[in-house]
Amino acid sequence: MRYILIGLCLICIQCWSQNQDQKQIDAIFKKALTEGNSYQWLSYLSNRIGGRLSGSVQAEQAVQYTKAQMDSLGLDKVWLQPVMVPKWVRGTPEFAYIESKPGITNNVPITALGGSVATPVGGIKANVIEVKSLEELAALGRDSIAGKIVFYNRPMDPVLINTFNAYSGCVDQRYRGAMEAAKYGAVAVIVRSMNLRLDDYPHTGSMTYGDLPLGNRIPAAAISTNGAELLSTTLQLNPDIKFFIKQNCKQLNDVQSYNVIGEIRGVEFPDEIIVVGGHLDSWDLGDGAHDDGAGCVQSMEVLRLLKNTAYRPKRTIRVVLFMSEEIGLSGAKKYAEIAKRKGEKHIFALESDAGAFTPRGFSFDCDDANLERIKSWKPLFEPYLVHRFVKGSSGADIGLLKDSDIVLAGLRPDSQRYFDHHHAENDTFEHINKRELELGAATMASLIYLIDKYGIVENTKG
Ligand SMILES: [Zn+2]
Repeated sequence: MRYILIGLCLICIQCWSQNQDQKQIDAIFKKALTEGNSYQWLSYLSNRIGGRLSGSVQAEQAVQYTKAQMDSLGLDKVWLQPVMVPKWVRGTPEFAYIESKPGITNNVPITALGGSVATPVGGIKANVIEVKSLEELAALGRDSIAGKIVFYNRPMDPVLINTFNAYSGCVDQRYRGAMEAAKYGAVAVIVRSMNLRLDDYPHTGSMTYGDLPLGNRIPAAAISTNGAELLSTTLQLNPDIKFFIKQNCKQLNDVQSYNVIGEIRGVEFPDEIIVVGGHLDSWDLGDGAHDDGAGCVQSMEVLRLLKNTAYRPKRTIRVVLFMSEEIGLSGAKKYAEIAKRKGEKHIFALESDAGAFTPRGFSFDCDDANLERIKSWKPLFEPYLVHRFVKGSSGADIGLLKDSDIVLAGLRPDSQRYFDHHHAENDTFEHINKRELELGAATMASLIYLIDKYGIVENTKG
């Protein structure tokens, strides 16, 4: 009989606790949707500051602005963490055309890839060879490639429902395309934009030359998807057409910048740190509203929502706005290096870097015990139509904190429209839906609340 009573009590405690959790999560969503601040912050970052390329004046303005906003939240501590970041500048707008016959030309939209070298002042005009993969490039070899512009034209796979998987399936062309083509004597590369729809926006992004000597580096640019279709069709009609490209981007010396950090100190376990963050830099073509202004303001909003629902965290909850994610991850490297040097114990980190679209759930990089525990919280999220709790990647910045003890997570919004805007001129504030942005922030705050309250399952192996 005694055992039955104890059993009943345990069930009661569980019910009571679930009720408390639902109440807290309801309060978080209500605050976010009625008195949220993420949209106003994002408006300032996007409309008043604009694109925040690593090392730019705008990136520094964003540092000062977000630091001041965090100061106004009444957190326990707000600080700037210095970090040296790369500074690459685009210069004057790029220019390109297809020359189907001498004197007969069609302009096409291109944009230099981040980190690319310039063309000679007069530009480059050469024949074009189209390939669908790095393997096809290698099979063609130097005889077919030397002296030509290599055109990488493998589209994103429309069948993949998670569009990030389609992106991963193509991005090697952009990231390594120039380095590989240079080995076979190509004079430049043009890469089909990582975009599922056909439009006129070229999408930039990072690239590498590996250890290619300076003199062997060739210019690299993305072409819009419509431009890629036109170029491919024109090549089928006449493989001898020429392509002209001119760009004058430059790599300058590294400059001083900062990660922006704020925290609420935990009352019971202050040494256990929970991080929530996004990256403060963006590309320069649009205003970086989706990538990743949204993730930054949502992360700031998490701390604001917890404070404004009168929740007092047990553990230390820290917002980190990482600098220079798009070019080399310098901010994330610096943060991880200092955390390690100080012997800080990070138990959980959540990144929002997948756009401000309707939140669907999270992807977790952790062991099965933690995943199962987190999945048991799913019913608490169901009223908000947040239902996907899957194993997978987390975020580029927080990924560097990975060790055997930490649980890493990424917010996973609906991804169908993300690559319409990603790294392009139309990644702008007008494409942000206020409610979707706020729902994302509330979803993140709810998970952070649960992790703070219940902790993580400690790794017994190690
Ligand atoms: Zn991003």
